[in-house]
Amino acid sequence: MSPLQRREFFGAAGLAAVTSAMLMGSKRAEAGDPSFMNNVPDPLLAGEELPTFKFELEKSEGKIMDGSEAREATVKQLPISKGIAGVSMKLAPGAMRELHWHATAAEWAFVDKGRVRTTVLGPGGYTETNEFGPGDVWYFPRGHGHMLECLGNEPCHFVLIFDNGYFSEFGTFSITDWIGHAPRTLLAKNFSLPESTFDAFPKKEVYFAKGSIPPNRAAAPLAGPKPPPLTHKWQLLANDPLVDNKGGRLWLVDSTKFAISKTITGAVLELEPGALRELHWHPNADEWQYVLEGKVSITLFGSGGRYRTETFEKGDVGYSPQGYGHSIENIGDGKCRILIGFNSGVYEEIDLSEWIAGNPSDVLATNFGQPASLFDRFPRRDIFIAPAENQDHGARGTGAVGRS
Ligand code: MN
Ligand code: MN
Repeated sequence: MSPLQRREFFGAAGLAAVTSAMLMGSKRAEAGDPSFMNNVPDPLLAGEELPTFKFELEKSEGKIMDGSEAREATVKQLPISKGIAGVSMKLAPGAMRELHWHATAAEWAFVDKGRVRTTVLGPGGYTETNEFGPGDVWYFPRGHGHMLECLGNEPCHFVLIFDNGYFSEFGTFSITDWIGHAPRTLLAKNFSLPESTFDAFPKKEVYFAKGSIPPNRAAAPLAGPKPPPLTHKWQLLANDPLVDNKGGRLWLVDSTKFAISKTITGAVLELEPGALRELHWHPNADEWQYVLEGKVSITLFGSGGRYRTETFEKGDVGYSPQGYGHSIENIGDGKCRILIGFNSGVYEEIDLSEWIAGNPSDVLATNFGQPASLFDRFPRRDIFIAPAENQDHGARGTGAVGRS
């Protein structure tokens, strides 16, 4: 339906109702409720063409201080990404992302390179200190205070995923920013210390603090240890992949295994050259992608004949809104690896091959106006990742082994 037809279809009264629903919807969306956001037409997604779903994160300016770097992708950089934001952060040896919290988002992270130590504090005074290497993941619930520091002599790199596209890493609540702006009299009363204690404290946000390389073993908190009921750490790549076939593999963790991660599911998708993560959609979540390695072609189907394809290289970010059809194909010479985040703590997907296989041949024959016998050649189960050779063999290649 064209916009004009749509207008005729709804009529004037209907259009007014739709418009007010849209306004309400965008207000709620700005408040950061991604589940509601998809119940009303998002004006950005209601045009005749789909907007771009690509942002070259690692080529963006970001914040660079003393060898540490932070680059973010929010609705400002990538307007389609209303449900999820992301940050690529590098810490130099001895650098720390200072004590802070995020008022409007939970934080999920994947360590790409180097080693990181975190300490997080939740309600009830529970604290946990963890160390992370490549392939490890953390999750901090919305509003919980935390810090991140680089361990050892090598820099570290990690990618942060937030369950709110309106979040901004540069609009986060930092401890130096707060203490630097609170009156000294108030601080003195708060801590039962002389006012002069705070004379030399930073007057504005430090963001990246620089110190010596942290001790090999983390020291105990001032208050002593008080471990939380649920851990904040998961070793994603050290576990078996959820899917492993000739075309590639998927490591995935959601709250069914990593209990604290109630609002985010995270995954690493590895595709062999030419392989395809098949056409599919997620009924319950938006999807955010970051290319860790390689070159991929991502497609997006947005109903009403709207279809868009974009090419992504290492360091680029992509986004597929909840319920929108998409696929990811490795078009580079080597393996590709994509970090994927979903803004739901429970993973759900529906694959096109699975949907076709879930219907009888007479239904498919009528739907497509084709002989029923044609559908005997279609896969009988979910393909999930199709290896490169499927392209030469028609829909059902010999390598289509499906889910393990
Ligand atoms: Mn943080
Ligand atoms: Mn997907």
